[in-house]
Amino acid sequence: MNFDFSDRVGRVEPSATLAISNLASELEAQGEDVVDLSVGAPDFPTPDNITQAAKDALDAGHTSYTSSNGIPELKDAIAAKLRGNGVDAEADEVIVTPGGKQALFETFQTLVDDGDEVVLLDPAWVSYEAMVKLAGGTLSRVDLAQHDFRLEPALDELAETVSDETKLLVVNSPSNPTGGVFSDAALEGVRDLAVEHDFAVISDEIYERIVYDGFEHTSLGSLDGMEDRTITINGFSKAFSMTGWRLGYLHAPSDLISQAGKLHSHSVSCAVNFVQHAGVEALSERTDDDVEEMRQAFEARRDMLVDLLAEHDVDVAVPKGAFYMMLPVDDDDQAWCEGAIQDAKVATVPGSAFNAPGYARISYAASEERLREAVERLAEHDYI
Ligand code: PMP
Repeated sequence: MNFDFSDRVGRVEPSATLAISNLASELEAQGEDVVDLSVGAPDFPTPDNITQAAKDALDAGHTSYTSSNGIPELKDAIAAKLRGNGVDAEADEVIVTPGGKQALFETFQTLVDDGDEVVLLDPAWVSYEAMVKLAGGTLSRVDLAQHDFRLEPALDELAETVSDETKLLVVNSPSNPTGGVFSDAALEGVRDLAVEHDFAVISDEIYERIVYDGFEHTSLGSLDGMEDRTITINGFSKAFSMTGWRLGYLHAPSDLISQAGKLHSHSVSCAVNFVQHAGVEALSERTDDDVEEMRQAFEARRDMLVDLLAEHDVDVAVPKGAFYMMLPVDDDDQAWCEGAIQDAKVATVPGSAFNAPGYARISYAASEERLREAVERLAEHDYI
């Protein structure tokens, strides 16, 4: 039959990164050696104690549904973790989700009605736009690219963009795709505007454990005035190298949790039972050394990559967190990325996917050897 598809799905495009990953797979199938710097996943195994906790949970028979919002032990551990960040959190203000993505999806669906204004800070992770559109919201955007991806110098532009009509702002620090980490002064600027115009803020802190140069992550929800208007999103994928486990959460005031909980129970029911038990172990201090080891590896790779690029006279905004870097390329970044993968066999993601034309996003979740190889190939083929 000819399906009559919903307007809703018609509003979004397949991810612009697909073209590149399809091309990479095709080339690999032809036996080509592609250096894949397009993936947003740590290249480390999940720490052993977490994997063991999942096995133990399976052996103990934790295989049925759990309460929809999550097992008490994990909600307690998450609330305690958030209190460690200075967020005034209780276990019943948490929903445990299959991945941070589902936590974001539920938040947008709970807060955004047709025509509601949502503000994004560009370059922004691809799925925010899609999720806002699926919820029927309209987008306003503030471009941080001209400020080296920093928020502080863009606060005036943000002030001009938001108004009493603004429903929601999305803040993602450390950022995918830029690796930028917003200063406390920037976060205070966000707080002042949110309070003045009475809008809510999603703080996506999924990269919080991956910060460099001795920087300490600040949770937006810990700032005075933000406690009753912040939805904190986090997940286990990046900090603990658990992308395939699908585990994340949202924290928000309890009235929002009641509403989002309806969506949660009618869609996913709950996050996977034994995975939630592994999540409790992940949040324990027994995992701290592994998290720190991965963080240090990312920091060393960042330093190496910045130096290697500088040797080729390429200046980048030095990332302060996450494992991404924005490489300035031709205006037609899509063509640059397609060329780079065809000619140099190096896969990156076009900046346009993040509303940042003229850049390519490099993920340095790859070994130092592969990163060196990538830079050599890009230079050899005149891409840098
Ligand atoms: N937020 C950001 C900024 C991300 O980069 C990602 C993963 N790419 C997510 C949320 C969602 O991650 P997950 O669903 O694996 O927890």
